[in-house]
Amino acid sequence: MEIARPTDLAGVLDALDADPAATLLAGGTDLMVEVTYGGRRPASVVALRRVDELATWEGRTIGSGVTWARIEHGPVRALAQAARTVGSPQIRSAGTIGGNLGTASPAGDGLPFLAAVDASVVLASTAGRRTLRWDEFLTGPKQNALQPGEVIVGVELPEHLPERQEFAKIGARNAMVISVASACLVREAGGATRIALGSVGPTPVRARRAEEMISAEPSPSPAAVAEFGRLVAEEVSPITDHRSTAEYRRHASGVLARRLLERCL
Ligand SMILES: Cc1cc2nc3c(=O)[nH]c(=O)nc-3n(C[C@H](O)[C@H](O)[C@H](O)COP(=O)(O)OP(=O)(O)OC[C@H]3O[C@@H](n4cnc5c(N)ncnc54)[C@H](O)[C@@H]3O)c2cc1C
Repeated sequence: MEIARPTDLAGVLDALDADPAATLLAGGTDLMVEVTYGGRRPASVVALRRVDELATWEGRTIGSGVTWARIEHGPVRALAQAARTVGSPQIRSAGTIGGNLGTASPAGDGLPFLAAVDASVVLASTAGRRTLRWDEFLTGPKQNALQPGEVIVGVELPEHLPERQEFAKIGARNAMVISVASACLVREAGGATRIALGSVGPTPVRARRAEEMISAEPSPSPAAVAEFGRLVAEEVSPITDHRSTAEYRRHASGVLARRLLERCL
């Protein structure tokens, strides 16, 4: 197996230009599981760990190589909450936000936050850069819009982030668990509310009818909060798999929505 170990972004792009089908390796917490247990055998690998440019977090731009261990102590509340739930301390010190996007699992815990705030993903190749909104980048379960020869440079957050933001997930136990359902809710002081849910659709699901209904309520009554949860549960499209039934996931989505809204209120 060929392994390139560039030390800057230009080196990554050159390595990908020479071998567009090369597999990118960040923390390896998803990729090495596929190699060890899934029989994946990449012919060539470009390792990203030595590239400081990818591991920087400046203002609203989070480099793809920023680890969950850093994000959990970072300034963005709901993203930090999500980071704290990713795996164990060992996984968080190796795993990155770029790897979460690269894997594009419906259960990726970083993804509901990115969807709730309408974040963008910045990609680069020797041909230049392009920026895709989260829903243009995440195209299906474990599918994204990354083209051969491209690398995820980072995530761009919007200029303004609502002060009130909450993330929570439900799994079979409290720690070291893949989400059965997860959600991130953000609410402006004026009432505008957005919610994105994970593990209950092929990509993060924005519950837009529920958002519209609750955004019109400056101080929602208990009945409005309950109705919000009901609408969210209606809007998700979960499946039954080895982790949960579709029915439980739908129920859990409504419960998460109500709880997160109550916390924000
Ligand atoms: C025990 C365990 C527990 C876990 N628990 C959780 C959890 O609770 N929640 C959760 O969300 N995830 C969890 N994961 C999955 C994993 O830790 C995360 O998805 C993590 O963010 C992956 O990041 P990484 O840097 O290790 O990615 P890698 O494994 O290095 O890469 C993953 C994929 O992304 C691609 N990639 C990586 N970086 C880039 C880039 N810059 N540009 C383009 N493509 C790129 C790779 O080619 C690969 O396809 C767990 C994994 C393990 C092993």
